[in-house]
Amino acid sequence: MNKYKFNNKKIVIASHNNGKVEEIKILLRPLKIEVLSADDFNLKEPIEDGFSFEENSLIKSSYVCNSTGIPSLSDDSGICFSDLNNEPGIYSARWAGKSKDFNLAMFKINESINKVKNPNYNCFFVCALSLSWPNGNHVTVSGKIDGKFSWPPKGNLGFGYDPIFKPLGYNKTFAEMEPEFKHNISHRALAFKKLIAICFPGLKN
Ligand code: IMP
Repeated sequence: MNKYKFNNKKIVIASHNNGKVEEIKILLRPLKIEVLSADDFNLKEPIEDGFSFEENSLIKSSYVCNSTGIPSLSDDSGICFSDLNNEPGIYSARWAGKSKDFNLAMFKINESINKVKNPNYNCFFVCALSLSWPNGNHVTVSGKIDGKFSWPPKGNLGFGYDPIFKPLGYNKTFAEMEPEFKHNISHRALAFKKLIAICFPGLKN
């Protein structure tokens, strides 16, 4: 028996980030289960003191699962710039400050890259997904997509750093792509494919 097969009727997305919650809801739609989010339970955000995307995603899914008694799915993700020693990485949300101002964060990235001699503009998005069950079982997977830093920001679809990220092989930023298109190629989509293979076998992806 596959102890990681998802046989439940409900799932809670362990995130307060509306952009992410909406993307994950779309990805989970084929499951036809009730999808809730941490906001529905008035939960605080746990302290993310892991040292990797994977550690932080597990911190979030375990916290929400333990608090609600419902299986919980979390996403820890971010963008890494080669010219900035892979920063902001796991601190991607923090670069936007308390007000979660991603225009400010993108401006700071541009300023920092401008100070680098011979920048290569290489960057990548990473997404770690963890699914935790009340019995203590958990699964963590991750996905990555390579791209180039693109300035000035372009497009108003998506969220976060999407306007300054051009995935390799495309001449558009993530924020210029229709959400359905982004959802097919993104770091989150790649991580989801792995999660589906383990926890939702049989589901088309
Ligand atoms: P956290 O995973 O909640 O710590 O936040 C990660 C941050 O990385 C988000 O707030 C976004 O700004 C950024 N991020 C993660 N995935 C994406 C994406 O698909 N597009 C744009 N920004 C993203």
